[in-house]
Formats: sequence, C-alpha cells, structure tokens
Amino acid sequence: MRLKDKVALVTGASSGIGAGIAARFAAEGARVAVNFRPGSPKDRDAAEAAVAGFGANAIAVEADVSKHDQVEAMVARVVEAFGRIDIAVNNAGIEINKPFLETTDEEWNRVLGVNLQGGFYVSQAAARAMVKQGGGGRLIFISSVHEDIPFPNYTSYCASKGAIRMMMRNLCIELAPHGITANNIAPGAIATPINQTVLDNPIAFKNAVSEIPLGRFGKPEEVASVAVFLASDEASYVTGSTYYVDGGLTQQVTMY
Ligand code: NAD
Repeated sequence: MRLKDKVALVTGASSGIGAGIAARFAAEGARVAVNFRPGSPKDRDAAEAAVAGFGANAIAVEADVSKHDQVEAMVARVVEAFGRIDIAVNNAGIEINKPFLETTDEEWNRVLGVNLQGGFYVSQAAARAMVKQGGGGRLIFISSVHEDIPFPNYTSYCASKGAIRMMMRNLCIELAPHGITANNIAPGAIATPINQTVLDNPIAFKNAVSEIPLGRFGKPEEVASVAVFLASDEASYVTGSTYYVDGGLTQQVTMY
C-alpha cells in the first residue's frame, strides 16, 4: 500500500488513463475523488461504477475542469469529504485534428480551456488547499510526448501540452517551499478512447505502431504505475521532471 490514506483527485477519470490511475491509486490505499465532466451520462455512470468498486473511500465528483467556479467547488468538495487533499492528477484532456490554417477561435479556446486552463485551475485550487493544510503535496500533470514533439494538425493540443510543461516547471520552484512537488507524465500512444479512430483503422494503427520501438500501444496501467511512483513517498526528491511513458517513441522520432 504505497498511498495509504492519501487523498487524491484525478480529473477526467471516467475513462482511459485517468480511470487507470484512479483504480491503481485506490488499490494502493488512497482515498480517491473520481472527476467526470458534466453533460455525459456515460462518463457519470463510469465514474460512479468505479467508485462503487473502490469501496467507501472514494467519491465521484462532477466538474468541467475548464470552468473556474466548478473546479473550486470540486476541490472544496474533496476537502469536505476527506478532510484534506494530498495529490492532484491533472489528466482531463481533449484534442482536435485540424490544420492550423482552418482552426477556429472556438476550437483553439476549447482545447486550451480544458488542457491548460483546466490544469491551472485544478493545480491552483489543490495547491492552495495543500498550503493551508500543511504537510506538502503532489501535483501530477498528464501532458504528452507532444509537450515537446510537434504534431502537424494538432497545433492547439501541442501548444496546450507545451504550456503545461512550462507551468509545471515554474510550480516546481514556486511551490517547493511548501513541500509541494510538480511533475509531468508524457504518454506516447496509449490505447484509450482518445485514440479510437486510429485503433479502429488497421492501416493507421500499423503506421502508428511502426514508429514505436517497443512495437505496441501502451496500456493505461503502464501510465498509472508511474503516477503511483510520483504520488508516493518514494518520489520525495523528484520535482520539475517529465517522465516519458512512450515505448521509446520520442527517441525513434528524432531519427527522421
Ligand atoms: P480519454 O478521452 O479516455 O480521457 C480524457 C478524459 O478527459 C475523458 O474521461 C473526458 O471525459 C475527460 N474530459 C474531457 N473534457 C473534460 C472537461 N472539460 N472536464 C472534465 N473532464 C474532461 O483519453 P486518455 O488517453 O485517457 O487521455 C487522458 C490524458 O492523457 C489527456 O490529457 C490526454 O491528452 C493525455 N494523453 C493521452 C495519450 C494517449 O495516447 N492516449 C497520449 C498522450 C497524452
């Protein structure tokens, strides 16, 4: 039990990587708040089913991470339910496949709103609560290999993830006096709903796999195991870093 009695909030935790992290945190003894976005009965059902499976030490919390007031209310609810918050995983994210020249204001703002503003709102509300309660804390951002590597037709996504990288590095310094660490996990290609189009298309899937040295997509659990490490006492001296979980993808890309 590497996270016994720690209180963790995981955003966008009704599917994919977030669901994998929430499940692993619960298995490691954490009390877990499973965030899901409003307006999606499927996400609500998945979050509530996960919480039921985790037992009494979990709650489902509804909030659109791109909305400041909803995030404030969500973090307050976590603190009210569990008395504190020790770990915040900023996982909720979206992407839009659109050439730069055709990207609209609305699309740009939507992606940046969830991926970047959401990361700001959640980490700020959580860090304020951590400072108030004392004893430090952990901020973990699920960024992407595209915090560093360009991805044509996904400029809004790459801009949001690159900005998360810089935010995390600043937080590492600003929050260190409070004992709060900040780190990124940069997944490569993980088999989750965000990649459903590629997973469903044999040619696109083969092309994607051909760029991954380990020759396969990753699983949410393989990202979750790094999140457990970063959230645990074993990572007490780790801050300001990005951990790549990409099967070697970033190394392969540099060959071209
Ligand atoms: P996913 O689509 O299953 O998960 C994204 C989650 O975010 C969903 O549960 C969705 O409901 C939630 N979400 C979206 N908008 C939200 C909002 N406004 N408020 C609250 N929740 C919201 O896909 P995933 O792969 O599990 O993605 C999780 C994170 O991992 C994302 O930030 C994504 O960018 C990142 N990532 C994924 C991959 C990959 O290959 N799967 C690679 C790199 C990075």
